[in-house]
Amino acid sequence: ETISARPRIHVLDPRLANQIAAGEVVERPASVTKELIENAIDAGSQRIEVDIEAGGARLIKVRDDGVGIGEEDLPLALARHATSKIDSLEDLEGVDSLGFRGEALASISSVSRLELVSNALDDPRHGWRVVAEGRGMEARVTPAPHPRGTSVAVRDLFFNTPARRKFLRTEKTEFAHVEEAFRRQALSRYDIAWTLSHNQKVVHQLPPGLSPSASERRIASLLGKNFIEHARYIEREAGGLRLSGWVGLPTHSRSQADQQYFFVNGRVVRDRLVAHAVRQAYRDVLYNGRHPVFVLYLTLDPEVVDVNVHPTKHEVRFRDGRMVHDFLYSSLHHCLADARPSAEEAHVE
Ligand code: ADP
Ligand code: MG
Repeated sequence: ETISARPRIHVLDPRLANQIAAGEVVERPASVTKELIENAIDAGSQRIEVDIEAGGARLIKVRDDGVGIGEEDLPLALARHATSKIDSLEDLEGVDSLGFRGEALASISSVSRLELVSNALDDPRHGWRVVAEGRGMEARVTPAPHPRGTSVAVRDLFFNTPARRKFLRTEKTEFAHVEEAFRRQALSRYDIAWTLSHNQKVVHQLPPGLSPSASERRIASLLGKNFIEHARYIEREAGGLRLSGWVGLPTHSRSQADQQYFFVNGRVVRDRLVAHAVRQAYRDVLYNGRHPVFVLYLTLDPEVVDVNVHPTKHEVRFRDGRMVHDFLYSSLHHCLADARPSAEEAHVE
């Protein structure tokens, strides 16, 4: 009797399932950096330190002073679909944490050598370590002293997926992406102290501070003095929407849209509707082909915005897109109204 070669359906091995999922969220060192920083923010940290080696291909390490992970929870931290952030569909609809999918650590640990050390107690003699070497977590949790908080070290990203490792660019390019991920996060939380180092050299050291002058110092050090000198502070509230931040004046535009930061409830997003509203507002104050600069924060009830649109959560969906669009357009248009420069004043760099 002949047996057909028809392959049978089977459930994927968990490691392979994680590696496939990693394809969605772990593109390069910068995406790992983003996920680890988001976890540190969600843990309520006051200080976050990021250490990078070789553009992140050798090491991405994020250390925080947040709530830590208890010994009993540690084995689950690296498991897929395991999260402390939501419990139910209602939670998801009103989610205010940056994470909630419970996938990042599982994905990252399936394509790297990951070491996590954490302590949820105030006594620095305590702490626990788990290690994963690209095959899911080792069952063993061993004691390792650590101050309250968590350190996650990701080494040799894609060491076991050579096809993906090949796509890593030069150290300089990968670090530029990591720095951009860091910049976005540091612009989202002025109350947190941040450090970024590359190959043992400090690249950014940002003290905390919520005052306008402290915020502007941070922006100047992340985006350049030019940015803040040609920007105007805006603050507006209407119909449950609140917009604040810095709007670049037409005297300072760029040839690329590379200094445009838009945060929705603390999460940096790229949204077509937002981009359109901004473009409209600048339409008759900027030359064709020039791009405005801005750092803007929109806050609204989490229930009226869906953040579960894409695994990287760079996209959002507003329940009332029209209203958000019109609010943004009118706020920016108003802010720029008396800033329309005469033709001689506008300089192009
Ligand atoms: P998610 O962030 O979507 O919950 P992750 O895979 O990123 O999923 O993290 C899994 C869980 O591990 C989190 O829900 C959290 O409980 C814990 N965790 C991860 N990183 C940290 C951290 N830096 N501090 C405290 N807990 C953490
Ligand atoms: Mg997370």
